[in-house]
Amino acid sequence: MSPTKSSRARRDVVRRNSSRRETTYPCIILGAGCAGLSLVWNLLELGFDEPILVVDRRHRFENDRTWCLWDVEPTPFSDLATHSWTRWVVHDGHHEAVAACPEYPYLRIRSADVYRRVLARLASAPNVTLALGCPILGVRETADRVEVATSGGEFAGLRVFDSSRRGHQIASVGTGRRPASLLQHFFGRTIRVDRPTFDPSTPSLMDFRASQADGPHFVYLLPLSETEALVENTYLFPFTPSADRHRREIAEYLCMRYGLHPGSCEVLEEESGAITMTTASIPDATGSRVTPIGLAGGAARPSSGYAFLRIQRQARALALRVAAGDDSGEGGALRPLGSRKYHFFDAVFLRALADRPDLAPRIFAQMFERAEPAAVVRFLGERSTLLDDLRIVAALPKWPFLTAAVRSAPDWLPPPLGQHPSGGGPIPPARRSTLGEA
Ligand SMILES: Cc1cc2nc3c(=O)[nH]c(=O)nc-3n(C[C@H](O)[C@H](O)[C@H](O)COP(=O)(O)OP(=O)(O)OC[C@H]3O[C@@H](n4cnc5c(N)ncnc54)[C@H](O)[C@@H]3O)c2cc1C
Repeated sequence: MSPTKSSRARRDVVRRNSSRRETTYPCIILGAGCAGLSLVWNLLELGFDEPILVVDRRHRFENDRTWCLWDVEPTPFSDLATHSWTRWVVHDGHHEAVAACPEYPYLRIRSADVYRRVLARLASAPNVTLALGCPILGVRETADRVEVATSGGEFAGLRVFDSSRRGHQIASVGTGRRPASLLQHFFGRTIRVDRPTFDPSTPSLMDFRASQADGPHFVYLLPLSETEALVENTYLFPFTPSADRHRREIAEYLCMRYGLHPGSCEVLEEESGAITMTTASIPDATGSRVTPIGLAGGAARPSSGYAFLRIQRQARALALRVAAGDDSGEGGALRPLGSRKYHFFDAVFLRALADRPDLAPRIFAQMFERAEPAAVVRFLGERSTLLDDLRIVAALPKWPFLTAAVRSAPDWLPPPLGQHPSGGGPIPPARRSTLGEA
């Protein structure tokens, strides 16, 4: 999708204005991805009519990712879902766990459809300026405003929402004394084959029939029809497999699982990403007028890496505050996004996975197989009841999780009981890792 004519025109206006530094925008949004566009969408929905500037380095919008989520609550984009499944499987390497949940379907949304919807809305919103092709060079907060330097000029704003992830740092990835963190690397190919191959009724959320030598490794497969599927190779480990390795492993999987050979698969699209799974909070690199949002604001659920639903909740909550004239600019209240309960569960879950990566297939398969599917979905969507939580706990292997609960106590006990506040305090530069580019 290319920028609309009007967005190009407005970008030029921004550039002209910027050189004169005439405008101080009440609201600047850095990054026109999922979080940035969701925020501007919600602001417009609430009737916010003050000038908004949205800045992104990208020149065009393409179908660069697939968003899946369980339909536990309405979002502004759920109706764009092209596919909806009410059953799914997890394979632990030995046997398949099947779950059926008509109550909460699993939705698949193409990012291009979301971008198209929001861009169409922006094109008719006179108060929104979209500045594309503008890499952000720096953000500086002064006493009364925020100055944003981009390659297209400088802008000033009263509050800034930043999803651009320039230099945001998170806790080191690994199993040291700080909260356990994992990197989720994935690389997906949408393929078309020449004969009916896939069962369109049932996506495979995790298939661990793959080498576990380098850490938890599974294949995620969304069947789009009998002949088309998104096949995603995923690692939960702190190293970055090359794209070629991912492609080779996807080919091996398709051959092992379906007897498909590379020559029989047409590749339609590719997508990839890396998401940091951690309960460590993101240290504030910015001040009170700058609120990190999206992945930069810690929106990924630590134990799963799913972020779309949390981003929608965050966008709605922030838009309500902005539209209500809450000028505190303080986004901290929205971070961490989950409640203490989920912070506890996520910290224990990540510690168990980090300490016993060999148990990952069993842990996931047992959770999906033994707990009631609706309870699992509510738990993943952070809407679980106490009974749901107990069902999840009962489904998981006891000893590794008890050990993990004790070992991760500093991450979830409130200070001063815990050894370090949640987030682990400042992170020595040598052990820092930049938030994964997704
Ligand atoms: C391939 C893929 C599949 C995913 N699938 C799912 C899923 O199924 N379910 C789920 O819940 N989550 C999923 N996620 C995770 C998450 O929902 C997405 O990453 C989501 O897009 C995050 O939104 P965001 O706004 O934080 O980041 P983005 O959508 O990446 O937006 C950030 C924007 O900032 C811009 N930007 C960055 N740096 C600069 C700079 N220096 N200057 C200017 N602009 C800049 C980028 O161009 C981008 O447009 C997926 C992620 C990826 C990568």
